[in-house]
Amino acid sequence: MSGPAKADLNKAGVESSDFPVLCETCLGPNPYVRMSKQEYGAECKICTRPFTVFKWNPGQGARFKKTEICNTCSRIRNTCQCCILDLEYGLPTQVRDVALGRMSEAPTSDINKQYYAQNLERQIADGSTSSSTLALDSLRSSSAGKEMLKSMARTDPSYKRNRPHICSFFLKGDCTRGKECPFRHEIPPTDTTMAKQNIQDRYYGRNDPVANKILRDHAVEKGLVPPEDKSITTLLLLSLPTAILEPDLRTSLFKALPYIAQTDIKSVVLVEASHCAFINFHTRDKAERAASGLSATGGLDVQGSVGGKKAKIVWGRARAKKTAA
Ligand SMILES: [Zn+2]
Ligand SMILES: [Zn+2]
Ligand SMILES: [Zn+2]
Repeated sequence: MSGPAKADLNKAGVESSDFPVLCETCLGPNPYVRMSKQEYGAECKICTRPFTVFKWNPGQGARFKKTEICNTCSRIRNTCQCCILDLEYGLPTQVRDVALGRMSEAPTSDINKQYYAQNLERQIADGSTSSSTLALDSLRSSSAGKEMLKSMARTDPSYKRNRPHICSFFLKGDCTRGKECPFRHEIPPTDTTMAKQNIQDRYYGRNDPVANKILRDHAVEKGLVPPEDKSITTLLLLSLPTAILEPDLRTSLFKALPYIAQTDIKSVVLVEASHCAFINFHTRDKAERAASGLSATGGLDVQGSVGGKKAKIVWGRARAKKTAA
């Protein structure tokens, strides 16, 4: 294949790799799977740089799969290059980041993304940054979060994910290919929010519907059932240390929930006598995110708490409605 010399391509910020970074599910059960490789075959869906695309058949009855993001981008976030799930836990990066209390610094413009990826690529090559410290700052992350990730990890391969997509003609009732059709003839589940996944959101770990569901389910399992009354946007922190001050409480809160901004909180009402505080959010959505985040880390780490005890979290209740006389 003729083309620009490799050195020139590297200067232009092109990514080349010999092996894809894949999770077990995407790879399929056969360890000797044949990969076809196309150098600079497509633009990475994250950094937009051309990258080496790998394509393979992960097993009988599966659809062909290919890498969607470049090797560097996958290493930066420790994800599979194909399904973009976390490599260690098999979970969406949003679940991982919430449980470990970290937020990804996402460059927004395409030029920034390319620059960011190139920069980190150089650091990895130099050995000044290892890909694992890039992906997870494990020293700083909470052990409760890690425990939760371990308990939720989907480490067994789930080859169902490699099945062909559902046939769109079948859904319209006019697929004429019958048994020969390479797509699935099945009625999809009614929950369509799960199908609306966007690769950027999945990668950066924001607004990922699958992650939101996993975190919500986990919060419910921990007894944090969001109240049916959607007007409730208050969380209650219990067993706070004595003599805690509001600024310290706020600091602890924003440290634990990097995806919650000052402006998301309407008010913090500290009730010293009862060692508790009401956190009033502007929106229910943010309150739910905070609740699932805090349940994921096993409560809130509060400055000055005795023996590192965490503050418990519960949902606030609606004010008793005035009953008609
Ligand atoms: Zn990339
Ligand atoms: Zn994968
Ligand atoms: Zn069909």
